[in-house]
Amino acid sequence: MKYIGAHVSTQGGVENAPINANAIGATAFALFTKNQRQWFAKPLEPASIEAFKQNCEKFGFSPAQILPHDSYLINLGNPDVDGLNKSRESFIDEMSRCSQLGLDRLNFHPGSHLKQISEDECLKLISESINIALEKTVGVTAVIENTAGQGTNLGFTFEQIAQIISGVDDKSRVGVCIDTCHAYAAGYDIKTEDGFRRTWQKFDEVIGFKYLRGMHLNDSMKGNASRVDRHNSIGAGFLGENAFKMLMADLRFDNIPLVLETPDESLWPTEIQKLRSWAGL
Ligand SMILES: [Zn+2]
Ligand SMILES: [Zn+2]
Repeated sequence: MKYIGAHVSTQGGVENAPINANAIGATAFALFTKNQRQWFAKPLEPASIEAFKQNCEKFGFSPAQILPHDSYLINLGNPDVDGLNKSRESFIDEMSRCSQLGLDRLNFHPGSHLKQISEDECLKLISESINIALEKTVGVTAVIENTAGQGTNLGFTFEQIAQIISGVDDKSRVGVCIDTCHAYAAGYDIKTEDGFRRTWQKFDEVIGFKYLRGMHLNDSMKGNASRVDRHNSIGAGFLGENAFKMLMADLRFDNIPLVLETPDESLWPTEIQKLRSWAGL
């Protein structure tokens, strides 16, 4: 089964996310469990947690259909000790919030070397950060998102992601989220049939489909290998509708949250409907 949705608003409380997702015809959603531009936030209210769980049940969202996203400030590969410690603390807090909400995964951008350490050193810091977070939390999988490779962000090649995973002690609690826009901008040509086939074959060889715990469905405003992260609406960018038709028809992307982060929210209901029809739903 394909679970298709969008990154919805939590304005007024996390309990509104499943309501907002249901209102656009989504069977999956992403959310921030706190303000994404803050390091720390006040703990979730017990009433809010309860209402979130009730709304998820009411609208039929299981944890496998929900992909929380962490704060943009966190850099788990930060070369600066203070920055790294703050990131690790904040990440543990985010993992705990997911756990409190009964969720089983947390999506994050791996980290940036900021031109102060080597790629290899940065990847090692990220693995170590994940190990620390997994030790201090229960039941939540750390889901590494591939990046477009903009600036000094790592995780733009399957090999880099595989290296991070290889440094994680508990492989049962580490996963991957592939963003279609980021993959394309990083140089993976998932637009043509041949490129699509070869990219996912490589993904399976280097990382493995067993680690795939979610996807971000975004078209790209910038070209292949541009290393620029600019999302576009489905079919309106360089990828075009065909890339998403191939994804929707492919059973390897079943039973994980498939989440739109496209710029025009007013199109989400139409985009979801289109994607559903391509999946035969
Ligand atoms: Zn994304
Ligand atoms: Zn992006």
